[in-house]
Amino acid sequence: MTTKIDGKKIAQEIRSRVAEEVAVVTDGGVPGLATVLVGNDPASAVYVANKRRAIREAGMRDFHKSLPRHSTQDEVAAVIDELAADPDVSGILLQLPLPQGLDASALINRIPVGKDVDGLTTLSAGLLARGEYGLRPCTPSGVIELLDAEGVAIKGAHAVVVGRSELVGRPMAQLLLQRDATVVVAHRHTTDLAAVTRAADILVVAAGVPGLIGPEHVKPGATIIDVGIHKTDSGLTGDVRASELHDIAARITPVPGGVGPMTIAMLMVNTLRAYAWARRSA
Ligand code: NAD
Repeated sequence: MTTKIDGKKIAQEIRSRVAEEVAVVTDGGVPGLATVLVGNDPASAVYVANKRRAIREAGMRDFHKSLPRHSTQDEVAAVIDELAADPDVSGILLQLPLPQGLDASALINRIPVGKDVDGLTTLSAGLLARGEYGLRPCTPSGVIELLDAEGVAIKGAHAVVVGRSELVGRPMAQLLLQRDATVVVAHRHTTDLAAVTRAADILVVAAGVPGLIGPEHVKPGATIIDVGIHKTDSGLTGDVRASELHDIAARITPVPGGVGPMTIAMLMVNTLRAYAWARRSA
């Protein structure tokens, strides 16, 4: 029997916990997240709306800046700098991808490390690599929460991460390493992917290739985390052909309802952490 990991339920529990903690903040302040959306990409607009709703539901303050598609680098930078200086703003999230012509990396790096709730600045990546205190990228830290909630042993496990993006694959590998897994990272130049993934007790797939992973890639009894999300005519699908893995994998995350909801839950956690971090350093 393959267990479907209920990311929606685990994410809801985390969000409720954050809301409870926000409700008992006793220092007179309120944690707040600023989302910055440049342009009118419909998918990005939906993601930002969902994040803002979650923030309000958690009892936190929702600051939002919407900029026109043709904004210049300096105009976006000025908005980030203003939010960076605002003591009421605990966290800043610059929604990606940005319209062409903007340098995302330079803009992200203007976010102060203490407000970097997406964990994407160079400084946050360095803190993660060194195992020092910092805010971790939401999707990979959500995967760790899922594994913990399901009681999957990470220490000593053989973990394979497919994908090495700054957003998911790399930080995922770092987080698993910090939890004492033996970690292998596969990517588009990996030869014989199946030979690499078949060794995995924990297989995290973040390649952005629909249906990349099937039975030939999976060791019986493995835990499979599917980070991929793809819109198709018949709904959302992932990077894993989940229906072909029944009775092979021990556990698997569905798409939708697996990793996706955890990303938003961890954004709530990071906003609260950012608030506490600012108070500690004040
Ligand atoms: P990306 O395109 O930046 O990176 C993909 C990585 O996969 C690259 O490192 C590439 O080398 C590797 N790769 C590509 N094809 C491969 C192949 N055939 N074999 C092995 N490796 C291969 O993508 P990303 O931003 O890391 O996102 C990956 C997927 O996760 C996408 O589908 C994205 O939509 C999804 N995603 C989901 C969430 C969520 O909340 N669930 C969050 C972020 C990203």
